[in-house]
Amino acid sequence: MNHLLERIYAVAPDWFQTAALNAFGWKIRHERFNADYDRWQRVFAENERRSWSDLRDEQDERLRSLVAHAFEKVPHYREMMQGRGLAPGDIRGAADLPKLPVLTKDILRTRLGALVARDVRASSLRKGNSSGTTGSPVTVLWDRRVEVANNAAHWRARRWAGFAFGDSYVSLLGRTIIPIGRTRPPYWLWNSAWRQLLISSFHLKEENLPLYLEAMADRQVRFLDAYPSTGFVLARFLVESGRTFPLKAVVLSSETLLPFQRETIERAFACPVFDIYSLAERVMFAGECDRHEGLHAQPEFGVLETVDERGEPVPAGSPGRVVATGLQNYGMPLIRYEVGDVSSIMQEPCACGMALPRMAPVTTKAEDIVVTPEGRFISSSTLTHPFKPMVNVEKSQIVQERPDRVTVKIVRRPAYTDADTHTLVAALAERLGPSVKIDVEFVDDIPRGPSGKYRWVISKVPLRFGVSAEANLYE
Ligand SMILES: [Zn+2]
Repeated sequence: MNHLLERIYAVAPDWFQTAALNAFGWKIRHERFNADYDRWQRVFAENERRSWSDLRDEQDERLRSLVAHAFEKVPHYREMMQGRGLAPGDIRGAADLPKLPVLTKDILRTRLGALVARDVRASSLRKGNSSGTTGSPVTVLWDRRVEVANNAAHWRARRWAGFAFGDSYVSLLGRTIIPIGRTRPPYWLWNSAWRQLLISSFHLKEENLPLYLEAMADRQVRFLDAYPSTGFVLARFLVESGRTFPLKAVVLSSETLLPFQRETIERAFACPVFDIYSLAERVMFAGECDRHEGLHAQPEFGVLETVDERGEPVPAGSPGRVVATGLQNYGMPLIRYEVGDVSSIMQEPCACGMALPRMAPVTTKAEDIVVTPEGRFISSSTLTHPFKPMVNVEKSQIVQERPDRVTVKIVRRPAYTDADTHTLVAALAERLGPSVKIDVEFVDDIPRGPSGKYRWVISKVPLRFGVSAEANLYE
């Protein structure tokens, strides 16, 4: 929606918002669930029974076709490849990708025009922004076929959770569907085209949670689609009030999923949690199967690589920067795009029988990792342990400005005492080591970022991969 429409929407009455949402919902449904969508689902089902060598051959073929198109039609790639003396024939498959440089967010920001294919009108492309975690979002354009492929890939990942289009579900995501200033219910809207109850993440206050649960019961929702942080708020409320709200599955995306969040959410909703990894840049998609041992990447949609500082592949099993090549976007091809996340590729075949490649279960934003002065990487999930017994902490956040200092922001509950601070700092010090000073700062609230996402760890210290032998991300 454009800005003016958003402003009208924000002050309109409930019935109007519901009508507008539903009109929009039916329009999108019509656009995204077409014959191409059905074809994708048939291809996916078939590919889940094929061998990796077959899938890899098919992926290499898609990649060759994309590279040929990029060389022919996209000024940025033509200049870059000619500058390196490369022709499309030099990239025969994913194994040849390291011949090309990594595409950084900076390049995307500064060379947007040169990345659009000359045979499309930029105005015919869809536009999306990725929430740059450091406050500078990037714009990505894509053509209509990406819209359908992206939707198909998303519903494939949901299918692995047993969740099909048409099942009633509740969404607790970052969109401002209800004006932020509203102080009376309803804080939700029903999108009948999708059988989706949209609940506002910006009104997640304790007194509103019982109302949310009532609305969910009224609509007989069977699935929850949330961020780990928003799903956790609702789950913790259920657990603390000694209740459960049984669902068939919870699908989580967009933030690092921390182990205590998964545990609490599974308990509260009496069902398994499925982590889904999708990117606003539409370059790759991955999701958990019912084994929950890592996430299966979707090779039809994108090529996944994990690389070091210089863009060279790191060995399977070691952490590296996630770099992805979107195979569907011919309007603005993103080849070896550096996503800003950290993961590792798992080599062992999955017990579920699918040969789709897997990435490690801990997928962390690079900015979510604390780096000590000795160069140790400490992932956010490791740092959650000291917080487990902290029942008097309402919310928390860890901010690292320099290698030798972290600030822990805490929103206290009424029973919080100095003893809590001592216990917490001692437990954190055990993990961070003596070279890191820990400051505690009490705050009234910890707001979500502009995209509605919540980041538990914010580190401004840069990561260096492949330089420190002690680097131990998954300790
Ligand atoms: Zn599997």
